[in-house]
Order: sequence, then C-alpha cells, then structure tokens
Amino acid sequence: MAHRVTLIPGDGTGPELVEATRRVLEATGVAFDWDQQEAGADVMDKYGTPLPDIVLDSIRANSVALKGPITTPVGTGFRSVNVAIRKALDLYANLRPARAMEGIPICHPDVDLVVVRENTEGLYAGIEHDVIPDVAAESIRIITRRATERIVRFAFEYARANGRRLVTAVHKANILKATDGLYLKVAREVAQDYPDVEFNDRIVDNMAMQLVQRPREYDVLVCPNLFGDVLSDLCSGLVGGLGVAPGANIGHDLAVFEPVHGSAPKYAGQNKVNPTATILSGVLMLRHLGERAAADRVEAAVRTVIREGTHVTYDLKPARDDPTAVGTQEMADAIIEAMQ
Ligand code: NAD
Repeated sequence: MAHRVTLIPGDGTGPELVEATRRVLEATGVAFDWDQQEAGADVMDKYGTPLPDIVLDSIRANSVALKGPITTPVGTGFRSVNVAIRKALDLYANLRPARAMEGIPICHPDVDLVVVRENTEGLYAGIEHDVIPDVAAESIRIITRRATERIVRFAFEYARANGRRLVTAVHKANILKATDGLYLKVAREVAQDYPDVEFNDRIVDNMAMQLVQRPREYDVLVCPNLFGDVLSDLCSGLVGGLGVAPGANIGHDLAVFEPVHGSAPKYAGQNKVNPTATILSGVLMLRHLGERAAADRVEAAVRTVIREGTHVTYDLKPARDDPTAVGTQEMADAIIEAMQ
C-alpha cells in the first residue's frame, strides 16, 4: 500500500529541493500518495495566515510530512511557520545527524554526531515583549521537568536503538542556575535509567570549542532548544555545510522531516542549491516508515555521487564558482542513476 505523506514544498529554494527529493524517493519503487499542502508567505493573501489549519490537519491525518524550508521575516512580521508547526503538533524532538562523507574536504573525516534538540520550549517558547519600545525588550526562557525528561529519554532511546555509546547533555547551568540547573538535574536522573549508555555533560561554550577540535570524542548531544539550533549548524559545518544536513521533528505519533537549512531565498528558482540535505531527510523518513532497504539504497547512492564528485552542486566543489558544478535537479538525477 502507498504511504500517504503530507508534502509541504515551502518557499524560497524549498519547492525545487522538495521536487528533487520526491523524484529520488519515488525512484526507490516505494509507493507514495502525496498530500501536497502550501504554507508560508505566499498563502498569507489566500488564508490570512502563513500556516492554515488545513496543513496541520493534513499532518495529523497522515502522521508523516516531508517539508521544504519556509522563510521567516527577520525582526518583524509573522512568527516562524517552522516553529509553529513543531509547537502545534508537539514535535518535541528535533533530530539532526551530522555524518562525514567521503569526497567532502573536511578537517575531521570521521565525524559521526547526532544532535537531539528540544523543540518546544526554551527561548523558542516565544514569550517576549517590549518593556519600553525601542529601549528594552524581554524574553522568557522556559525549561520544564516534563519537556526535559522526555527529550533526554528520547536521546537515550535513540542511542540504544542505533548502537550509540555516549549521550552528552549540553547546558549553561553555571550561569542559568534555575533553568539549566533543572535541565541538568533531570538529565542526570534520566541517565540513571540507561546504565548501558555512557553519559556526560558539557557547558555549551566549551562544547562548541570541543566540537571544533575533537568532534570524534562525542556521539549524541542532547540540548535545550537554542543551543541545539546553534550547535547543529556547527555540526553541519563539520561535515560539509548546511547543504548536506538532514533533520527530523518527531513527536509521539507525528513526524515532520525537513533539512536543517533555511530557504536560501537568494538562490530561489535558480536550480543551484544542494538537494542532499532534503534527500537525506527523505532517507530519515523512509526509515521512519519502515522502508529500511530503500533508505539504505538512497543513502548509498548519495554517498557514491558525493564521493565521485562530478555531479555535485557548487557548495561541494573546491571553489564556489567551479563551472563543472551541476544544478539541483541534475544532482538528483545522478543520485537516481546511482541507485540503479
Ligand atoms: P539558510 O539556511 O537559508 O542559508 C544560510 C547559508 O547556507 C546561505 O549561504 C545559503 O546559501 C546556504 N545554504 C542553505 N541551504 C543550502 C543548500 N541546500 N545548498 C547549498 N547552500 C545552502 O539560512 P538563512 O539565510 O539564515 O535563512 C533564510 C530563511 O530561511 C530565513 O527566513 C529563515 O528564517 C529561514 N529558515 C527556515 C528554516 C526552516 O524552514 N526549517 C530553517 C532555518 C532558517
């Protein structure tokens, strides 16, 4: 039977990346019944909101979505659609694997990290206001026992299920004694339930430095929302940049798969940006759907194309203006070809 999946092309470069990914996923032979839904700035006029209820209803009905990035106006304008989807559907775990691939010149060729980011609270709870307009503003950072316990448990369960050896809790409990103090206390309590998985903790600034110098000493990082957002981009940088960094937002029954990167609007419509991050998000989705063989095939094909280095986008070439770089759809074609 076909998997019914909500497909959200997003905006900016999103539609071309999602199209490339859809073609790769269909080339596996797995049957999909796509339920396409629009969200973002372009639907404001029609629905009066960038996130119409129909989109959330579709994800609730289908349980699984593949999503392209959606632009968020900076400083003013509507709130992030991406954050709103995660909060509305209680997709509390943001999973961001960062694994080195042969063919991408990087400092540490054996990086294999997974960032598990808390997705519903912290500074992204969005409770902020002007105290005195233009003079002072205030933001409230929420950390709860409930949300911390479930994200740390998710990290340990993920570690167990995927043969990972170490979970590191990232925090700033030396300064944020109430919020991250609670976070660290709960993380240590949860760790007691998983004696088979090693546990340690790191202060976030030290963690950033350690990831740059000694990433191979780390494995699964479990982070409050903002730290996870920042460190996962750092981890993407370690393995070749945002163009190759996949992600998943997972709740109890629902899951939305999307790349770590944003809509890269300056490249919209140019068939230029790297489809790998969105395709590898599709690989995470295939695994979630139980289609392990198809997932392995796509991942192997992506690795082959990147290792060969001839049919890759500009960001994977030694020089950004390399004339031999191919476009988004041509790289997807090469991945499809490598699957045959
Ligand atoms: P971005 O991720 O769009 O771009 C950052 C840099 O990475 C740019 O230089 C861009 O060209 C490059 N890049 C991104 N994706 C790439 C790809 N697939 N291949 C090659 N290079 C790639 O981040 P930004 O510029 O800070 O944000 C742009 C918009 O995206 C903002 O409105 C932001 O709010 C939004 N955003 C959305 C999501 C999401 O939908 N989940 C996530 C992050 C940012």
